[in-house]
Amino acid sequence: MKIIILGAGIIGVSTAWHLLEQGHEVTVVERQPDAALETSFANAAQISVSYCEPWANRDAPLKALKWMFRNDAPLLFRPTLDWQQWRWGLQFLGQCNDTAFERNVQQLVALGAYSHTALKDVVRATGIEYQRLEHGIAHYYTDQKSFDTAGDAAALMRKYGVSRRVVGRDELLRIEPAFRPFAHRIVGGTYTASDESGDARVFTQALAKACIARGAEFLYNHDVVRLNKLGDAIDSIAIRARSTGAGGQNDQENLRHLKADQFVAACGSYTAPLLRTVGVDLPIYPGKGYSATFPILRPEAAPLVSTIDDELKIAISRLGNQLRVAGTIEVGGYDLSLDSALARARCQMLSDRIETVLPGVCDTRNEAQGGTPNYWTGLRPATPTNIPYIGQTPVGKLWINAGHGTLGWTHGAGSGKALAELICGRQPDMNFGFYGNTPSRNPRLAPATAAG
Ligand SMILES: Cc1cc2nc3c(=O)[nH]c(=O)nc-3n(C[C@H](O)[C@H](O)[C@H](O)COP(=O)(O)OP(=O)(O)OC[C@H]3O[C@@H](n4cnc5c(N)ncnc54)[C@H](O)[C@@H]3O)c2cc1C
Repeated sequence: MKIIILGAGIIGVSTAWHLLEQGHEVTVVERQPDAALETSFANAAQISVSYCEPWANRDAPLKALKWMFRNDAPLLFRPTLDWQQWRWGLQFLGQCNDTAFERNVQQLVALGAYSHTALKDVVRATGIEYQRLEHGIAHYYTDQKSFDTAGDAAALMRKYGVSRRVVGRDELLRIEPAFRPFAHRIVGGTYTASDESGDARVFTQALAKACIARGAEFLYNHDVVRLNKLGDAIDSIAIRARSTGAGGQNDQENLRHLKADQFVAACGSYTAPLLRTVGVDLPIYPGKGYSATFPILRPEAAPLVSTIDDELKIAISRLGNQLRVAGTIEVGGYDLSLDSALARARCQMLSDRIETVLPGVCDTRNEAQGGTPNYWTGLRPATPTNIPYIGQTPVGKLWINAGHGTLGWTHGAGSGKALAELICGRQPDMNFGFYGNTPSRNPRLAPATAAG
């Protein structure tokens, strides 16, 4: 079949690779000049099968309320006039209970485990190098009350087959000695040896090249302007080369119409507004996050184990001779600015924290001080459950692979493989509630619905 994929982030490119594996003819349309230049560009780098708890839990509403006026809040809801944001918020609240939390964790672990295997298969097949470190993921706590609950979360993960274990401070510092200068603040942690880390951008761009070598066509610098419906199915998509200038919706002259047998929407946060134009209404809403990437000054003192700082909910990962620190979520629309007071405060918070936990290890000076911190922001395609939509939409020939929220890098390879299997009419080998006309293997799992 001829299949067109919309979007070349980690999800679109992984889907392309797996469809090529199945012998399909693949075209990818991407508005940027290369793959992975939007949300897949500079994330926290964690392949985090075991640290996959969704943001929606029983304590989240109270915490979010308390954090509403704090610039450095890990989760910040910034009210706008956008109805979609309020609808998303209400559905998120509906997930803030223990039953939903455990159901969502089960789904996320199932997809994570399947995806980890798929990633290893892709790496074996392609030999792609992407600063991969297989040293596990650690999580340290600075607050005794939070650490006291770490055992419950670890037990829940073990129930679903992930070996996350609680470790005391001394053991944590044996696992990752780089945090010794911060030892006086650490009360304990957890550790999962099977998790790993690596650069999502480097991986995705290399995989896109591998797809091209296998015959895929990548139309970079092209906007998908419209999905053209004929009857109940998508007949073609209208695209426009960015070099023709910014024409409006009615600028027919510069549009090209591409036909295919199937279409896959993998446009990250922009998938929801695009699909709404053909009547598919899904709660995928942007969750803005930030990262900073610092040059390492003392490699011998920099961590190799990717680590989560529980207090600020940020992740720290080593990428060769650089250290990436990323986190925080801001639910407030599609704004990607880095120069607002709020954005500057959040970026500065990342620098300050690294200087506190790993003093003198990186060059954390800001630009005014002569440093090159490389701040970045991206829009996580968030769903209220944190579970992505993978499957067939009610519109003929239209599939979706989007809504991966905080875990798109972890779930990328598996989501691509699973959707390719579904398009080929096969059931992926995992207990997961696929979207739409694609039943789960486990009848107890409801497919992910529009309610998120
Ligand atoms: C701060 C931060 C830290 C994170 N840390 C981690 C982590 O440690 N581990 C993890 O697993 N995940 C992490 N994530 C999440 C992960 O990065 C995302 O879930 C993932 O990148 C989403 O991939 P995607 O392909 O769906 O979206 P994207 O990478 O955004 O790709 C979508 C593509 O579609 C293109 N597109 C959109 N609309 C159009 C259009 N109309 N025409 C043409 N092209 C279009 C865009 O240009 C883009 O390239 C993090 C995210 C953030 C923001």
